[in-house]
Amino acid sequence: MGYIKKSVREKLVLMDDNNTMPKKWDKFIDEVRINHNLLIKGRKNLVKCTNCDFEFISKKEIGKYDKCPNCKNTYQIRSNKLKSDYFIDRIILINRIKGELVYRYFEIYSRCNKNNNYKSSSSVTEFARTFPRNYTTVVNERMSKCQCNIYINHYGDPKKWREYTRNYGFGEGGYVYPYNFKEVFSNTKWKYINFTKFIKKVNPISFNYLYENCMCCDSFEMLIKLKLYNLAVDASKFASNGSFNQIFGISKDYYEFMKRNNITFEELKILRTLKEKNIRKVRYLNEYDRDEIIDEIVKYISINKLYDYLIMNKGDVHLSTYRDYLKFAKALGLDLNNKKYVFPDNLQKRHDELEKYYKIHNRKILNNLISKRYELLKENIYKDKNFIIIPAKSVEALEDESRQQSNCVRTYSEKYAEGKADIYFMRLLKSKNKSLVTVEVRNNRVVQSRTKYNNSLEEKQLKFLKLWETKILQKCLV
Ligand SMILES: [Zn+2]
Repeated sequence: MGYIKKSVREKLVLMDDNNTMPKKWDKFIDEVRINHNLLIKGRKNLVKCTNCDFEFISKKEIGKYDKCPNCKNTYQIRSNKLKSDYFIDRIILINRIKGELVYRYFEIYSRCNKNNNYKSSSSVTEFARTFPRNYTTVVNERMSKCQCNIYINHYGDPKKWREYTRNYGFGEGGYVYPYNFKEVFSNTKWKYINFTKFIKKVNPISFNYLYENCMCCDSFEMLIKLKLYNLAVDASKFASNGSFNQIFGISKDYYEFMKRNNITFEELKILRTLKEKNIRKVRYLNEYDRDEIIDEIVKYISINKLYDYLIMNKGDVHLSTYRDYLKFAKALGLDLNNKKYVFPDNLQKRHDELEKYYKIHNRKILNNLISKRYELLKENIYKDKNFIIIPAKSVEALEDESRQQSNCVRTYSEKYAEGKADIYFMRLLKSKNKSLVTVEVRNNRVVQSRTKYNNSLEEKQLKFLKLWETKILQKCLV
């Protein structure tokens, strides 16, 4: 057993000696366990709910989820060939011991099998405790680690605690026991909050996240009082004062809708753009918004058009490809009010075509600008009996230099075209097509000069460059 602080050790003993579970513990376990059910599909799409034994017709495929019309719970559909299955959930119980908070972690493990008509039997076991004030977490012999995975055994000595070093997490999320919050938090600033309802609405959650990030925020209480429970989980993202519009970024007209649907922070972001009280649509769009690409797409088209396109393709749209397609289409001046352009038939193919045009188009613009720069800079062309230095003439010339020198000067074409940097090539007079030194100039000063593989210059090359810089660029008399 690793070293555990005396004050923590005392509390552990105290807890183990008087280990009575709270009053509604069994009721709570049943509430979690009710999720450990299935819809077993037999012939002719007939499915049977293992929770309430109700039978109904479901056309959904095996592996998908459906809602039992009788008990109203949603379960996964499995085949009646299934031999056995198991379910695992974490449970968090918060207690106060000698005035100090302790989070207790349990695992509930349920197993069902065909011989028993898939009626599951469960076991609940405690495996960890966190004392947040001491920054200490302890685990018992039931927790074991294999590589990066944590396993909870439902046997072993529950009283042999050892300190747990947080090199690896055990997943602090789970179903939080909601019925003792009133007593646990009775002496805190949250004593007037209806925690039971809140916890039930947001379960399962990561209690650590909630405790450390949200319950300390001033907006937490306000959000719970507004019954916006899922938003309260993200309390840190909201100001605690200001008008409704200032706090939520949407008019108060939407409040009833937000409350009724217990919307999440991600759903709120969609709602702000969509501005339509249609939860199915909000959730549908939110499901696709993995990397916040919708925010970028609505720069080009309305969110409703995006929705239509997703529906048209039964959701089978690669959003980042669509975003890039729209970017190219806009840059190339295609009319995005025209259905033909906004709803491409074959997205990948049209994307690749436009990308090609876009690159050529882009190159043409760049080359135009670069040739103008060349005209401007060519008065700086200079030579002595060994070397010559000339400004870059085109994108191709930059690419050629990059290739010959194995450097990255090709990525300077935009900066060069826009006049943010001047690029010159210094070469031997007798072999003007062969790269020797790549030179970057800003404000008439050489800021970079490199030979092949970004090496430094030889003495006489440096001398030439210095002379050119002072005599030609800075027009000093030498
Ligand atoms: Zn049912």
